[in-house]
Amino acid sequence: MEIPGNLFVVSAPSGAGKSSLVKALLELDARLGVSVSHTTRAPRGQEQHGREYWFVDEPAFRAMIAGGEFIEWAEVHGNLYGTSRGAIDDRLRAGQDVVLEIDWQGALQIRRLFPHAVLIFVLPPSWDELRDRLRRRGEDGEEVIERRMANAREEVAQARHFDFVIINGLFETALFDLKTVVHSQRLKYASQLRNRSQVFAALGLS
Ligand code: 5GP
Repeated sequence: MEIPGNLFVVSAPSGAGKSSLVKALLELDARLGVSVSHTTRAPRGQEQHGREYWFVDEPAFRAMIAGGEFIEWAEVHGNLYGTSRGAIDDRLRAGQDVVLEIDWQGALQIRRLFPHAVLIFVLPPSWDELRDRLRRRGEDGEEVIERRMANAREEVAQARHFDFVIINGLFETALFDLKTVVHSQRLKYASQLRNRSQVFAALGLS
């Protein structure tokens, strides 16, 4: 499938700091929009329907699958998550760049559909640091933390399939790395041709 805007996919095990990085990136970059996913998990804390996620029940989610509404979906930690066509189509058609914050299974589905999508994996600097971050979040008991650690080992093994790997040791360094990936993608010929069409036309380039 051909798409006019750049599509960035960011994956990571929970606790690696992916959400904070993407949030900071979006605040700095007005040309970037985030896709809001559907999920069957219950809202946590201050999460709002339509902001963090579209919260739906499983029959509604399954009906969307049957209706072909998702460009990717996956079961993650016992809940269903998916990116709807509508969540990204309008943005991409308007020439905006879109970031998807999804798990590795979804990322690999996106690559099959959009071969030009840029897949970015965020790694923790070490297993000890990941465990410390999960504990510091204070959301889960020790048993859940150990389950997340076991999941993380499987998720991290998928990093080899991604185009870019960012090690989130120091937040500012990781954010700089993420901005660099986004920026360099925008400097590619096809992207420049799209965004700087007048300059290209004046130079006789197409
Ligand atoms: P959480 O429940 O902690 O918000 O997210 C759990 C995991 O599901 C995270 O790895 C998150 O990136 C992933 N996720 C969120 N939305 C989607 C989606 O639309 N598709 C897929 N495949 N994974 C998603």
